[in-house]
Order: sequence, then C-alpha cells, then structure tokens
Amino acid sequence: MIVARFRSDVPIEDRSRLTCAWHQRGYRSLQCLVGRHTLVTFPDLEATSPKGAEFVALLQATPALEWVVDSVDAPALGSLAATGEPTAVRVSDDCVVGGGRFTWIAGPCAVESAAQLLGVAREVRDRGAHLLRGGAFKPRTSPYAFQGLGKAGLDLLREASAETGLGVVTEVVDVAHVEAVAEVAQVLQIGARNAQNFALLHEVALTGRPVLLKRGFGCTVPEWLHGAEYLLAAGNGNVLLCERGVRTHGNTTRFTLDISAVPLAKRLSHLPVIVDPSHACGRSDLVAPLAAAAAAAGADGVMVDVDRAGHSALCDGEQAITPDAFGALVERTNRMLRSLDPEPDPAREGRPPTPGSRTTTATGSLPLRVHAPRDAGDDVAGLERRTDLP
Ligand code: PEP
Ligand code: MN
Repeated sequence: MIVARFRSDVPIEDRSRLTCAWHQRGYRSLQCLVGRHTLVTFPDLEATSPKGAEFVALLQATPALEWVVDSVDAPALGSLAATGEPTAVRVSDDCVVGGGRFTWIAGPCAVESAAQLLGVAREVRDRGAHLLRGGAFKPRTSPYAFQGLGKAGLDLLREASAETGLGVVTEVVDVAHVEAVAEVAQVLQIGARNAQNFALLHEVALTGRPVLLKRGFGCTVPEWLHGAEYLLAAGNGNVLLCERGVRTHGNTTRFTLDISAVPLAKRLSHLPVIVDPSHACGRSDLVAPLAAAAAAAGADGVMVDVDRAGHSALCDGEQAITPDAFGALVERTNRMLRSLDPEPDPAREGRPPTPGSRTTTATGSLPLRVHAPRDAGDDVAGLERRTDLP
C-alpha cells in the first residue's frame, strides 16, 4: 500500500487538481486529514507492476508530496510513522482529546429516564467530566434484556447536553440510526460487538464526526487498528481508539483489561487511546485502580459508567460507580498524573519520515517499507520480514 503525505502548504485546489490528475491516470486516491497532516493512499496501486512502479516514480517526483512510502500490510493512515506525532482530536471548542490532555468521559451505561440522565450528567460535570456517555441503543447479549430507549434516549441526551454543556458520546449499532445519532452526539461510539462491522464503520465515518472505536473483545491490536483504518480510509481522521477488555480464560472479571494494548497502540498509531475500565472488569470495586493503571500506562483518557442507581440500573449496574466515587477517582488520578514524569514521546522513538525527502529510509513504528531503488536489497528485505506485526 503506497502512502504519501502532502506538504502542509499545499492549497486545497492543488490537492484536488492532483487527485483528478491521478484519477485520469487510472489511480483512485483516498485522502484523510489527521491533525495538521493530509495523508493519501492509493488502494488500487500495485507498486511492483511496471505501470505501478512508473506511477510511484511520478509520485516521488511530485513537489506537493513530502514523502511517498510503501507500507507493507500496515494500517497506513493510522500508523504513527505517517504523522510522526500523536494526533489530538478536536471534539468541540471546549474539548480536545489527546495532545497531552487527559479526558474524562462519564455517565450511565444506558439512558433510562430524564431524571436519571440529567442527575448523573450534572454530577459528573461538577466532578470533572469532559464528555457525557450514555447508550440510547444498547447492543445486549440477550434479546429479552433492556435494549435502550432508542430515539427517545437520544432526545434525553440532547436535553442533558444542552443543560450541562457536556458533549455526548453514544453508541450507534445500526446503519439506519447513523444520521439520528450524529445529530445528537459529538462522538459516535462503535461498540465492541460492532468493531469489525465494516459497513457500519464506513457510514459512521462519513458523518465526519469524531468516532470512538472500541476494540472487539476477540480482536488483536492490529485487527483493532485495521478497524480504525476503515474510518480513516473513508476520510475521517477524528478517531479515538478505546480499549475495553478482551476475553481470556478467567471468569472473575467480565473481561480482562489489556493494559499492554495501551502503550502498544500508542507506539503503533498516532490516534488517541481511551480506556473503558467499567466494561473491562464489570465490577465497580475494580474501576478506580484500573483507571489509574490506564492513566499510568499512557492512555489519553478514561470512559467510566457512573450511575446513582448502582446495582438497580437496567444495564450493567454491577460496574457503575457513584458520582462521588467518580469525583474521588478524578482527583486521585489527576494528582497521580501530575506526579509522573512525562512519558517519552513514542513518536521520537521511531524515526518518522524525514520532511523534505520524497523517498525516505524511515520506518517509523510500523513496517513502512521504503519504496526503494532496486539496489537497496537487504534493507528492504529486512523491513519486509517485519510484516508479522500488524
Ligand atoms: C458501552 O460502552 O455501553 C458498551 C456496550 O460497551 P462495549 O461495546 O465495550 O461492550
Ligand atoms: Mn454497558
């Protein structure tokens, strides 16, 4: 997969003109704005064919492109090597996720009533939440379980957002609901059960709204990153990754929080990483230590179930913490974060493509293979051997 980056000073008209010219030569290109970078991929380009190689040479000679690389099997647009720096996702004027900030997302698992939602929304806002979570459409294991209030739940989320000023994070489970959810939500959530529902990912991406992509509980980290790549390839660079626990052999916790996935995703990808300790462990007493562990591991934020009803909530009550427990968690974790030395920037550990060179020998954190001259022999083969990673 060939991936290239536009120079930052290339005006949009020039980018469009180039896109048309490439299309006329028979090559579709997908562009995605991530942070301050415009990345481009060519899904139909077979770089090893004579025609493809000729086109790559043309790309390499295009002054508007900062660099052109061949990314072997990697989720190219999402890779840290493609931006060379972590991306901060702007959710609203008041809320940016990533870029050194720690974001708190809190609220009930499911929206149940105006009183429940508004009460929790006010309480979490007053205790430090930046965004309000709450499911209107609930993907439940049993068809007999409470399935959420649906559109009526979206109306309540709209009211709670207007009343508290908090942006809403809520799940979309069906392509048919994307438009209605996007009217209310600042962030559209893709749940673990839909993490590889690619048609849904595509539709959600087209709204242009930030998307919080949960990791499927049976997905490897590369599979999760490839899910994110569907969003980016559809032109939506506002993606938040969310680790929420994976299935392991134990049954004392609901799932197992894969804490190693946090620094790993941050080394492989430029996207912000959020952790949901509530769904990972399914027990209110473990939420605070897991949230602290996530923060210490370098997460960009945490999403927690908070509900006054506790165990009597209609959905996942066993894992909800009280608003006061949430307040204590925010205070303690923020104090801990202030006391930690800043993490070394993973972007600096890999060598991102060097600005100014059109062909680069950089590999960054994913196996981005240089589209190298033929005599590069061993180097290229060495990098190709690393393709087991994603
Ligand atoms: C949720 O956040 O409400 C939810 C259903 O989570 P998950 O998709 O991770 O199970
Ligand atoms: Mn839940």
